[in-house]
Amino acid sequence: MHPVTRKIKVSFYQYIMAKHIFVTGGVTSSLGKGIIAASLAKLLQSRGLSVTIQKLDPYINVDPGTLNPYEHGECYVTEDGAETDLDLGHYERFLNTFTSQANNITTGRIYLNVIEKERTGVYLGKTVQVIPHITDEIKQHIKQLESIGNYDIIITEIGGTVGDIESLPYLEALRQLRREVGKENCLVIHLTLIPYLSAAQELKTKPTQHSVKELLQAGIQPDILVCRTEHALPKELREKLALFCNVDEKSVIEAIDADTIYDVPLLMLKEKLDKIVLKKLNIKTKNEPDLDHWKAFLGKLKNPTREVHIGLVGKYNELQDAYKSIYEAFIHAGAMNECKVHVLPIHSEALEQDGVGNKLNNLDGVLVAPGFGARGFAGKLEAIRYVRENKIPFLGICLGMQSAVVEYSKNVLHLPDANSTEVNPDTADPVIDLMPDQQAITTKGGTMRLGSYVCKLAKGSLAHKIYGQIEITERHRHRYEFNNDYLERIEAAGLVASGKNPETGLVEVVELREHPFFIGVQFHPELKSTVENPHPLFISFIKAALQKKQA
Ligand code: GLN
Repeated sequence: MHPVTRKIKVSFYQYIMAKHIFVTGGVTSSLGKGIIAASLAKLLQSRGLSVTIQKLDPYINVDPGTLNPYEHGECYVTEDGAETDLDLGHYERFLNTFTSQANNITTGRIYLNVIEKERTGVYLGKTVQVIPHITDEIKQHIKQLESIGNYDIIITEIGGTVGDIESLPYLEALRQLRREVGKENCLVIHLTLIPYLSAAQELKTKPTQHSVKELLQAGIQPDILVCRTEHALPKELREKLALFCNVDEKSVIEAIDADTIYDVPLLMLKEKLDKIVLKKLNIKTKNEPDLDHWKAFLGKLKNPTREVHIGLVGKYNELQDAYKSIYEAFIHAGAMNECKVHVLPIHSEALEQDGVGNKLNNLDGVLVAPGFGARGFAGKLEAIRYVRENKIPFLGICLGMQSAVVEYSKNVLHLPDANSTEVNPDTADPVIDLMPDQQAITTKGGTMRLGSYVCKLAKGSLAHKIYGQIEITERHRHRYEFNNDYLERIEAAGLVASGKNPETGLVEVVELREHPFFIGVQFHPELKSTVENPHPLFISFIKAALQKKQA
């Protein structure tokens, strides 16, 4: 146990369970609030504190589940089946702890909750308003984590940029909460940009001054400024920022551009962000940060002794964020193998037009990505046929696994019309079909088969060797599934169902015996890969790619 008092008396009748840190963003979006929040959390965790992070998203969608990946990047699915913002993926990858539905909320869900309460008469007789009803709902959500986990610190990332209309209720909720729990229990970090004007060869503070003014207008004085910058911040500039933004000079933190997001915790350590935070929150820990494992990971990541080239066949390749967790899982597994993994995005539609051979022949492995709908599906089948016949290591995830089943049925079982009913609802051979309990569902958002389910692996299978155990749990997000009416025929032809859900018999893993590494999984292993626990499927896939390269 670390020496932190769990319950802090605030006033005669009020106790708070955890201290709060808020992270707001100024000047522009995409400054990496999620990475700063996760890095700070990592430092605090490495001192023995129990920390969690939540994200408040200002858009009106009830969750990001209905958003196109082009709009908002990957939809990250938690153990409990919540469809959430991709920043939760960073939180899990950095902290190696699970998040849940409680770690992400949107304006849409806040309003939905309030409107549902209004309809059931909770506010009977009252006019329902942004203040206090929406702000109360936000505060209740923020504090809900206090009772879910035994946390010393809850970090809350407020999405969007200060000054946006959508962020106002969140800032007001923050102002109120801070007033209620006291400044020593609630800290505000403002992440901002210090642009560099190359013509003048100067770093500029004015945008930051303006965004702090915006925060002040909402009644919030930030305690710490974290400044994104391409160049080191000189002392005079820190002094100037401190003076104009009314923070102490030590609380002006430089966040210089890093080679990898995994450098950021160490950069923040160097700037003493964790020490400043602990001092301001009046938390005493005996422990210095224990980052040995993290540093060992970085050492391997930065000093690879070999390299592989992996093709990522998908249709959202224009935007890396659409496959965020897959890219990160390759980084973790690559470091574990002391191997630089070059991930080459390959547009599945381009494969339909240009043919596969010239695009795939130099690769050491191919991953066929998750996805939805018919666009680009034919290209995925082409890619899988090529890697199957040419013995190139293959990992298919979700739609990638379903594509492998369709490809095998078409080209090996000689069922020319074989398809997924998602792609052709009238196919004569629906080898992939809508799951029975999905037939009646018409609403969108949170209605797929979501979250963690148990899978039993066949003894002696490739999957069993990879995981080193029979029973595993993995996360899901799908409506369609292997059609068990075809199971016998497909297995007899050589594509084996080596993992099944023990309760429903749903096929979760398929693999080819006569191939060095050919495996498709209905679940999303990428969501569970962390710095501390790189995912076994990705580790083995990289190993197979290395072997293929040597051969
Ligand atoms: N579209 C497929 C389904 O709904 C696969 C989903 C996915 O790849 N996440 O089953």
